[in-house]
Amino acid sequence: MLTLFPDMFPGPLGLSLAGKALEKGTWRLDAMDIRAFALDKHRSVDDTPSGGGPGMVMRPDVIDAALAAATMDGLKPVLYLTPRGRLLTQNLVRELADGPGMVVLCGRYEGLDERVIEERSLLEVSLGDFVLSGGEPAAIALIDACVRLLPGVMGAEEALAEESFEEGLLEYPHYTRPAEWLGRKVPEVLMSGHHEKIKAWRLAMAEETTRSRRPDLWAAYQKQRAAKAAPRTEARKDLDHDDIA
Ligand code: SAH
Repeated sequence: MLTLFPDMFPGPLGLSLAGKALEKGTWRLDAMDIRAFALDKHRSVDDTPSGGGPGMVMRPDVIDAALAAATMDGLKPVLYLTPRGRLLTQNLVRELADGPGMVVLCGRYEGLDERVIEERSLLEVSLGDFVLSGGEPAAIALIDACVRLLPGVMGAEEALAEESFEEGLLEYPHYTRPAEWLGRKVPEVLMSGHHEKIKAWRLAMAEETTRSRRPDLWAAYQKQRAAKAAPRTEARKDLDHDDIA
């Protein structure tokens, strides 16, 4: 983690499941202070924007020095968290969790000088279409999502497989005791003990939730389902290609 606020880490990641796994050594986090790589006696890491305008911009030379120190093994992907980045998805989270780790650069102020993004081919990742005051809360969310996928971190591994996005669908609704609350009953099928029917009901609910709330996910799911059902032809290969893109 490259940050101007190393004290923000591990923060919430030091508690609960992620915190226990951190204690056990299942994962590790080094928060490096970007300011330690400042080149002048004032320890400055930012400067005014070229061309004028509000705010400050993080200097490319300072960031580059920090990245050089953090990327010595050359194996880990280097992420820059920014609203301009590719939207973080569960697929990217899984890829990162399966990988050798990552170097995460947390921006502050108006963000980074564009040249260091290009020079270092940073993988720009956004948490969503909103603006945070710094990359740190985004980094904490990203790491939380990755750590819970590491083997042994979550109690029930099978719970992961049924969650939102795992099959390209949002999750079905959950219920627990009491069987009746404020006049609202737990759906009968869930009390039936009939596992096949419960499974079918949950799938139908997941599909309905996805269709009504997220037309984008629904369209992708239907396309994926059609591709699975269709025999393998030349046209089919094109479809595969689209899916990856
Ligand atoms: N001027 C920028 C916003 C800077 S916010 C713009 O308009 O796009 C300061 C820092 O917060 C960014 O450099 C980035 O590291 C972080 N940040 C803000 N919103 C974010 C988001 N949605 N996803 C990931 N990081 C974000």
